[in-house]
Amino acid sequence: MEHKKHYTGLSNEQVLESRNKYGENILTPPEREPLWKLFLEKFEDPIIRILLIAAFLSLGISFVHMEFAETIGIFCAILLATGVAFWFEMDANKKFDVLNKVNDDTLYKVIRNGNICEIPKKEIVVGDIVILGTGEEVPADGELLEAVSLQIDESCLTGEPIIDKTTNPANFHSDATYPSNWAMRGTKLMDGHGILEIKKVGDETEFGKVAEKATEMSGEETPLNKQLDKLAKFIGVVGFALAVLTFLALFVKDLFLGEAQYTIIQLGSIGIVILSASIVLTKVWLPIIYDSFELLGNEKELPKSVEEGSWFRWILYGIGTFVILAAAGYLFGINPLNSESWVSLDVAGRILQYFMVAVTLIVVAVPEGLPMSVTLSLALSMRRMLQNNNLVRKMHACETMGATTVICTDKTGTLTQNQMQVYKADFFCLNGGKLSNDENHNIIKESISVNSTAYLDYSEPSKIKTLGNPTEAALLLWLHEQGINYLDIREDSEVIEQLTFSTERKFMASLINSPLLSKKVLYVKGAPEIVLSKCGKILTEQGLKDAKEYNSIIENSLTQYQNQAMRTLGFAYEIIEDNIDRFENGKLVNSNLVFLGVTAISDPVRLDVPSAVTKCLNAGIEVKIVTGDTPGTAKEIGRQIGIWNDSDNFHNIITGIEFENLSDEEALKRVQHLKIMCRARPTDKQRLVQLLQRNGSVVAVTGDGTNDAPALNFAHVGLSMGSGTSVAKEASDITLLDDSFSSITTAVMWGRSLYQNIQRFILFQLTINVAALIIVFLGSIFGHELPLTVTQMLWVNLIMDTFAAGALASLPPNLRVMDNKPRKNEDFIITPSMRFNILFVGFSFVIILLGLLFYFSNNGEVSRYDLSRFFTIFVMLQFWNMFNAKAFASGKSAFHGLNKSIGFLIVAFVILVGQILIVEFGGEVFRTVPLTLKDWAVIIGSTSFVLWLGEIIRAIKR
Ligand code: ATP
Repeated sequence: MEHKKHYTGLSNEQVLESRNKYGENILTPPEREPLWKLFLEKFEDPIIRILLIAAFLSLGISFVHMEFAETIGIFCAILLATGVAFWFEMDANKKFDVLNKVNDDTLYKVIRNGNICEIPKKEIVVGDIVILGTGEEVPADGELLEAVSLQIDESCLTGEPIIDKTTNPANFHSDATYPSNWAMRGTKLMDGHGILEIKKVGDETEFGKVAEKATEMSGEETPLNKQLDKLAKFIGVVGFALAVLTFLALFVKDLFLGEAQYTIIQLGSIGIVILSASIVLTKVWLPIIYDSFELLGNEKELPKSVEEGSWFRWILYGIGTFVILAAAGYLFGINPLNSESWVSLDVAGRILQYFMVAVTLIVVAVPEGLPMSVTLSLALSMRRMLQNNNLVRKMHACETMGATTVICTDKTGTLTQNQMQVYKADFFCLNGGKLSNDENHNIIKESISVNSTAYLDYSEPSKIKTLGNPTEAALLLWLHEQGINYLDIREDSEVIEQLTFSTERKFMASLINSPLLSKKVLYVKGAPEIVLSKCGKILTEQGLKDAKEYNSIIENSLTQYQNQAMRTLGFAYEIIEDNIDRFENGKLVNSNLVFLGVTAISDPVRLDVPSAVTKCLNAGIEVKIVTGDTPGTAKEIGRQIGIWNDSDNFHNIITGIEFENLSDEEALKRVQHLKIMCRARPTDKQRLVQLLQRNGSVVAVTGDGTNDAPALNFAHVGLSMGSGTSVAKEASDITLLDDSFSSITTAVMWGRSLYQNIQRFILFQLTINVAALIIVFLGSIFGHELPLTVTQMLWVNLIMDTFAAGALASLPPNLRVMDNKPRKNEDFIITPSMRFNILFVGFSFVIILLGLLFYFSNNGEVSRYDLSRFFTIFVMLQFWNMFNAKAFASGKSAFHGLNKSIGFLIVAFVILVGQILIVEFGGEVFRTVPLTLKDWAVIIGSTSFVLWLGEIIRAIKR
């Protein structure tokens, strides 16, 4: 028989040569928008724009008085706030890029220097020979040298979900978009396997030519985002209402109680200007009014003209209104051309200032930091989860993991080490002996070598690495230990047809032309009960016997192995002497198999899994094993990891077939008590996930095979395995790079911590909001001077919206979150205790601050020095409260782990130093005068009672 082609692949020199000539297998990233453009986009926020326009108008007035300080201060504050927020966001987005990089690092089996080894996708060069298996993604364009039952999903290029590929010219499709013996980058192997010689890499591939901009991960809307959106709307409405009231209060006070006297005509002019300006600004305030309708449960569609209409249109409407009203006013004696009708520049400046105060109040109220804190938390979690072997593919998964109530986990690799070893090989014709060149023994050798898709990497003879399916690789190693080279046998034989292993089939079959037996032979291996059911005879040392006679012996030894958590495998063969087909629609037909024996393969439980499972159970999360293995093996593994107890019985375990036979109602009840589903197929897994979800559970499920994709898609969080197929990975939300269950536990902890960090930020932000809005509002009604100026408020806004978002969102995860029960998905992010905290602390601050204003005031006048003290006390109260927010729900002191919260410490430092600089050197810009050292000490010391009080309350609660 002809010796098949033996591939040697490229040598190291040839690889370098090819890389120099044809380049690397990397797609050039799409050009990014320049930074300045992204920065300018930040100014698309209408409220910031209005503030800028008002600041420009006020700059005009400043020219008359030649007093620029405050206006310039406003510009600087806006630039600073936008700049810092921009920087944080940029940084967060950069962290998302890691995803694409990991994709380029996926390992592929390549033949180089005559050896099969694994190299990252990006290192593949033109001329490389790549071995591809089911579920893998094609790494670069190439020509197929071999194709066995190969079907490829080309939907990413041609929209074609299944295309047959072959190397036999007689079967080529003439109308296919790409040649039938070519496989293109980005397409996926849905069935079969093949060997590909790479012809084009990187941008030269078809995929490279059509590749679009990599999806921006940060834009994804998560359930939490939706909740926060609602919260932001609520705050926006309240802030807007208070801003309007403050403006009215300031204006009316000026009108009736101020020194200036206005004539009716002047009032008319002011009215016309305000009305026209309001029309110009319709696009800003009308959506807020509609938001308030929505919050009151009376949702209305925003008119298209407002939502989509251009600003230009509303400016025109505003000018039109102004012209019409001015013309009408003219009839009543208001002559716009007469300076008597105008108000003085002074008055105009004051009104403009009131307007800016009102707009700034909205800026302060609107939690711009909220989306940023979410992005930042997600980005940070994602990066740190990567260090803990979790590659987050879809952003929402980070937080949904925190709400998970049930984890359905695979067994092999996730709970076990996936380091499979043949523990015992019970071939009846071998009877415990060594393999020789006996014909029967040749059948065993060929069965293991050819009916397999795994490989061994001999690059380091002292440390042989296994590649591909671990069960099959364990069998190859067993052969190797007996001095037999599987590759020689495999390359000599010719595979005519093959059914690769799948969890549905639970067996693998190959029809080959055997050089050892000089005949056509069918080899089958798989779940012993399935293989045995197809066998009439059994091959023993004494020749062929009736299989039935051996049934009980086989069953006994299987039970023994399974009770030791072993994976068992049955082997059979048939020498084919007719021309009848043995394969039909992916099934085995017309076969008359002879049973060879069984192997028991050990795969110990990972050492860290029992404690990780205990953590999940303590965290109120149910763990269910879904495995293709037998009930015996699954129960033993369940016992070893701590989910299967002596008191458990048949209610807690079910096989895939039994589950399929249950009606939805029965199954719905059954899943509640289920701990193990064995002999499961992907469809059973998917049904289990859906039923659990119907019961109201938040389900995370693991999967590694191509057929697990539906279950991964349906689950709230789909977890694929690093060693899994790329189809599974793509369908999943998170990839566990180390395949291990303990990484799932880490993901839960991160998810919960992330949610808690956002709660902390909200707690801090809303407390300031309550204090700032009420103080400015009441101050503008009762006080003579504004309690906080526009620039001061912008500084406060910078502290809470940007700095605090950064500091609190980046706090390290807290192990204590694993002691709580899972939150309910529909729970509002502001818990009752948070609400109490916000209102209690917020109003306490208001009372303290109002008391201070009263104390400082002298006939309604407060000196610059006292206003500076007031401003500093306001900021320092928030400063100390930030420490309380940090400790929120941690059950620990705010000082606990402070040395590990570097981001937090930096922010605290920046706030403190910033405040000192502002007060000492802010002058006119911030309406401050330097304070004495003693006052600094008194203020910083006395305001710290906020923290000490918090510490005492926390200590009592502990
Ligand atoms: P899990 O879903 O937890 O990873 P599993 O890997 O044990 O479970 P399957 O891969 O579905 O489940 O395997 C089911 C059975 O199929 C095994 O018990 C074994 O008997 C058989 N089997 C596993 N791998 C192969 C293979 N490569 N070829 C033939 N039979 C196999």
